[in-house]
Amino acid sequence: MKNRIIIATSNEGKMKEVRMILDDLGMEILSMKEVGICAEIVENGTTFEENAYIKAAAVQQAWRDMSEERAPFGDIVLADDSGLEVDFLGGAPGIYSARYMGEETSYEVKNQAIIDKLSGVRGEARSARFVCAIAAVLPSGEKLTARGTIEGQIGYEAAGDGGFGYDPIFYLPKRGLTTAQLTAEEKNEISHRGRALRAMKEILRKKLGDKP
Ligand code: IMP
Repeated sequence: MKNRIIIATSNEGKMKEVRMILDDLGMEILSMKEVGICAEIVENGTTFEENAYIKAAAVQQAWRDMSEERAPFGDIVLADDSGLEVDFLGGAPGIYSARYMGEETSYEVKNQAIIDKLSGVRGEARSARFVCAIAAVLPSGEKLTARGTIEGQIGYEAAGDGGFGYDPIFYLPKRGLTTAQLTAEEKNEISHRGRALRAMKEILRKKLGDKP
């Protein structure tokens, strides 16, 4: 039976990016919504990889709990977890990026708080990275993970209105721009998520014996 991939996200933007990148794997790619899964997932892991795996395993379980006919066991479930690591802050907000200062706090406030914490810190000491871990759970239960990162610095002020979250303060010194000042295409090409997805694609290709 042909493998299909179920993506453990309800974010349409992510689905679009995943479909674009995994397209040439030649598998059917479905979102949780498309297969009718609605899972409450507690992300209590201590690393990006653990949290991605927790999401993927929970969705695989929810999928199996549905009727066997609708949930053939040949499906792969894939999930991601990502965030911003600021070196001067000991890697914070890290896995707590979405929850940092409370889920309801605006990114304008969160971003300004990070800039304020780095006041007096100059140049390379402002280093930071976006990290994305992708976990795949195979029908056998085997777990695969891949990681993608993009290195940058925390800007001295927020700039740009593209992207989301911490993009306005994530400054790329070589480009002289923040990731909020890139087009969506430019960002996807270099993003942590794009890199992690491409790495996972190669792992899956090898695993499933596909020719590149
Ligand atoms: P998620 O795991 O993809 O839902 O991301 C968790 C959090 O990390 C987001 O809510 C953002 O705060 C932050 N984050 C992840 N990726 C990005 C990005 O590309 N730009 C800005 N913020 C990001």
